[in-house]
Amino acid sequence: MTKVNIIGAGLAGSECAWQLANRGIEVEIFELRDDNQKTFAHRTKDFAELVCSNSLRSHDPSTAIGLLHHEMQKLNSLIIASALENKVPAGSALAVDREGFSKYIEQKLLATNKVKISRQEITSLPTNSQEKWIIATGPLTSQNLSQDILKHTNQQHLAFFDAIAPIVFKDSINFDIAWKQSRYDKGNGDDYINCPLNQEQYFEFVNDLINSEKTEFKEWEKNTPYFDGCLPIEEMAKRGLEVLRFGPLKPVGLTNPHYPKSAVGTPLKQRLEKPYAIVQLRQDNKSGSLYNIVGFQTKMKYGEQQKVFRKIPGLENAEFARFGGIHRNTFINSRELLDNFLRFKKFPNLFFAGQITGVEGYVESASCGLLAGIFCAEEILKNNKLSKQILPPLTTAIGSLLAYITSDPQINQNNHKANPTIALQPMNVNFGLLASLPENVKKDQRKELYKTRALEAIDDWQNNLTKLLN
Ligand SMILES: Cc1cc2nc3c(=O)[nH]c(=O)nc-3n(C[C@H](O)[C@H](O)[C@H](O)COP(=O)(O)OP(=O)(O)OC[C@H]3O[C@@H](n4cnc5c(N)ncnc54)[C@H](O)[C@@H]3O)c2cc1C
Repeated sequence: MTKVNIIGAGLAGSECAWQLANRGIEVEIFELRDDNQKTFAHRTKDFAELVCSNSLRSHDPSTAIGLLHHEMQKLNSLIIASALENKVPAGSALAVDREGFSKYIEQKLLATNKVKISRQEITSLPTNSQEKWIIATGPLTSQNLSQDILKHTNQQHLAFFDAIAPIVFKDSINFDIAWKQSRYDKGNGDDYINCPLNQEQYFEFVNDLINSEKTEFKEWEKNTPYFDGCLPIEEMAKRGLEVLRFGPLKPVGLTNPHYPKSAVGTPLKQRLEKPYAIVQLRQDNKSGSLYNIVGFQTKMKYGEQQKVFRKIPGLENAEFARFGGIHRNTFINSRELLDNFLRFKKFPNLFFAGQITGVEGYVESASCGLLAGIFCAEEILKNNKLSKQILPPLTTAIGSLLAYITSDPQINQNNHKANPTIALQPMNVNFGLLASLPENVKKDQRKELYKTRALEAIDDWQNNLTKLLN
């Protein structure tokens, strides 16, 4: 039986290995991280390390990301299984204990007896190999391999910046000022820690963000645009005085118990105490000792972060387990370089998967690894014949995201705008990618219909895959 090689034991590589191993295929994963070497953002040598937030975002299937979770769950996703097994309270979000999450994945993979891990960097594309390879090296693909990909693609890499948020020790937070509550009391009702700012404090905070010292860009980074879904907080602050208050610091759905009567009908002085803006922190580990500051991705210098964030009421003595940071993302123009099955057109024995293909986010990257695993397995098990029938439907979150990055021609029939000649920009899953619903469907019914249509379509697709194989 053919062996498949995967470069990268991240979210995509781990999910891909699982899908292959479960179809009886031997896998060797090559991972550069070991006891000595790490990437800029990874801190461990663990499988599927979550480099920033510990949240896989909403698990509600009437959101696009939640729908992707549920589709993946139906497709036997290891990443989603591990997240559910290791979840920590986070309202309607699926947040995890990151260490438990990685350990579960490692144990499950090794228990298949089909997966071997080799701790080594692959420095060039294995274009002469007769075996199949999956390149799942992520946004921080090593410099050597990036250079070689560039050589074979003969075009500029695209790039943008992502930034990571700081993490605070819970026992350094002042609960005489802060309080625990989820917005609109969702989840357990008290999953987040909230820190209130009055108008004066908020204006000063915005001013501090704008004027703080930032990390210098390297020469090659200077013309790289930000990805709008992950803007540093100071970049948002620069866009307008009220932008943060209508974004991550919005003071709605929360009641400050330290001012229980601050709403309508109370004296003016007390009403003025009603927070003008609220900073939220989300649990970051199972024991609940660490909390990350939601939406606070930043490229401010560490000293500045400590100074400015300690001005937030409740965080005046905050101890930081990790400061925020900034990184460059690496991805290829999949629309030009890959076929519909994520194979490199120039060397079809090579598949690409994960963030390097232009999908954005933990779950999206894992979903791409899941598909690469299915396609590669199908190709091996059916002696190299892949037909369009094995592409997931555009009515599903997973299928529409794949189509977006590979520019499947079917997209045009559904009025999507993807076009191979337009440079690909990284994409989170969203309902805008899915095949359109009939125009007469009412607004308040659309999400429900996206959901039921997608979940039925995934079942049909899975049944078809099984039939095609027999
Ligand atoms: C700093 C940062 C913060 C992010 N924050 C978030 C977030 O909060 N939420 C979110 O949803 N997404 C976030 N992302 C985006 C993205 O979803 C994650 O990076 C995700 O881990 C991508 O999955 P992946 O499998 O494609 O890559 P990774 O999980 O990064 O896995 C790639 C693996 O390949 C290895 N590797 C690289 N080069 C080589 C080589 N030459 N040879 C062998 N191994 C190699 C790496 O060590 C790594 O283990 C962030 C990304 C970064 C970089």
